Amino acid sequence: MWATDISPVTQDAWLRTHPYLQSVADLHALVDTAAAGVSLPDPSAVRWEEYGDEFLEGVPLLLSSVITIDYSPVAKIARSIVESLASSHALGKLAEEARSLSGELRDDTDLARHLVAWLIDDDPSAPACPGLLRYIGWTVMAQYLRPVTDAFRAWRDEERWLRNYCPTCGSQPAMAQLVGVDQGRQRLLSCGCCRTRWRYKRTSCPFCENADDRHLAVVTVDGERGLRIDYCGSCKGYLKTYDGEGSETVLLADWTSIHLDVIACDRGLKRLAASLYEL
Ligand SMILES: [Zn+2]
Ligand SMILES: [Zn+2]
Repeated sequence: MWATDISPVTQDAWLRTHPYLQSVADLHALVDTAAAGVSLPDPSAVRWEEYGDEFLEGVPLLLSSVITIDYSPVAKIARSIVESLASSHALGKLAEEARSLSGELRDDTDLARHLVAWLIDDDPSAPACPGLLRYIGWTVMAQYLRPVTDAFRAWRDEERWLRNYCPTCGSQPAMAQLVGVDQGRQRLLSCGCCRTRWRYKRTSCPFCENADDRHLAVVTVDGERGLRIDYCGSCKGYLKTYDGEGSETVLLADWTSIHLDVIACDRGLKRLAASLYEL
């Protein structure tokens, strides 16, 4: 049995039933609106045929040695978002963090390279307030990369990936989604960083790859429009899962279900998924 959405969930309706998410929603709206101003790359410049072998070997697109993307617009917008947060009087501790971050970014003469190396490659030279920069950096990156990730989805053969990390950026999944019915039922994993969705095995833990269903279980939560917690008793990892279609924008946004992370944590489960919300 699965939950079928009658109508798509809007963000306003979700916030009315989950008012404690309002402050996260406000920050998200502010950063998202600024990120929308980034000038987009031309996806036709990506030479897919040259990337084919690396794709088959499991190299994510952004870690490819043959694909080059100009990230300077990302650095420019990320820097201006940090500066506008730093000058805000309403954000309290967050504005303070943004102020210390903004000084560091201003002094970096090669910010695009450093920021992207740190976001994608886990470059160990973390800046001040890494949580805030990771959130802002990935929000801008996801917007910027959209033409490329759309073209990538059209190009790639999902059957030939089926890995437990994102085909675009290599991150572990933040969430999952169950789509289709009966024999056509599939699980997609969802990247919380670049927002790519990709196919993965239906019954298998994406963190330790355990496929023994005696160790795999589900916590359902009433009134959550198909959102549930799938977890693995073997590694204690869990994945928030949207069992349904049509409300992806709201229900797969990760920040909209932070309360499910709290429920999972109370049950002794560990968030092994990549997260942008450890601010
Ligand atoms: Zn990704
Ligand atoms: Zn596991």
